[in-house]
Amino acid sequence: MAMQIDKEKCISCYACEQECPTKAISYDEDGKFEIDPYTCVECEGFYEEPQCVAVCPVDGCITRLEENKWAF
Ligand code: SF4
Ligand code: SF4
Repeated sequence: MAMQIDKEKCISCYACEQECPTKAISYDEDGKFEIDPYTCVECEGFYEEPQCVAVCPVDGCITRLEENKWAF
């Protein structure tokens, strides 16, 4: 399981990137932030809740990656 960032909503404030314990969040070539689904552990073992969601100032910007997004 992993979290994902809605690039339409992200205002590139850098808050989440600094909080991620696994360094799963990076700045991509579009000038937006993204979460590596293979590195994100939803903060399990580090915090009680996803820290990126806790610090993100934009409601609904970071959400859980839907299971069906894995299907291809
Ligand atoms: S949920 Fe935690 S591990 Fe995943 S991207 Fe957010 S801060 Fe990083
Ligand atoms: S905290 Fe939210 S708005 Fe700020 S860079 Fe991260 S995803 Fe974008």
